[in-house]
Amino acid sequence: MSIVPDLVHVFPLPLRVVPEPLEDLASLLSRTAVQMEYKQVNWLLRPEDGAYSRLDPAVCFLLEDAAYHYLGHLLQLNEETLYKLTFHRFLMQMHAPDEVQPSPSGYLQRPLFFPNGHATHALFLPKSASRVCPRCLAEEPVCSVLYWNIRPVVACLKHRIFLVDSCLHCQGKIPLLRSAITHCPHCSHTVAAEITASHPPSNSLRTRCFCRARP
Ligand SMILES: [Zn+2]
Ligand SMILES: [Zn+2]
Repeated sequence: MSIVPDLVHVFPLPLRVVPEPLEDLASLLSRTAVQMEYKQVNWLLRPEDGAYSRLDPAVCFLLEDAAYHYLGHLLQLNEETLYKLTFHRFLMQMHAPDEVQPSPSGYLQRPLFFPNGHATHALFLPKSASRVCPRCLAEEPVCSVLYWNIRPVVACLKHRIFLVDSCLHCQGKIPLLRSAITHCPHCSHTVAAEITASHPPSNSLRTRCFCRARP
């Protein structure tokens, strides 16, 4: 999203959503696109003239100050709210001296993870990759959660099942930024999975641990 239009010519989106606690920015954008009845999440950026820039697939690493202003204007969210939808918010709770450095000119003047930083590689999935909890996506509120994409986090603490990074239907990798957070962008199959008594979770921690204990 390096080309940011003049805000004088941009109107806030008429239909918006309220961020959920620990929701990620990609999820908020997807939910907003659904509210707007847009088929593509990229249409959030100046769809009226077809000349919009593409959203960066790694939108949760949003860096540029102008991009914060632009998205904040479109979504009517202040800078702090937007910042808390990005991975950068974790820097407020951790010691990462290599990452906490003055932001270059043009970047948001808050603690930021930089793309080539050591902590960025150590802590997060590669750029636009993501993991999801299929059961969380089948429950209200339907949104993706920031910590699902922290590399050492492999399971949903609420449902005690492994997070998945691929569509169970087509095996395609689930990207962070997708037009509907509950559906695979490759095959349109749902990635949400309601658990019923007759359909127990196939990837439950209990199942995997049992299998590992008896190779
Ligand atoms: Zn879950
Ligand atoms: Zn798929």
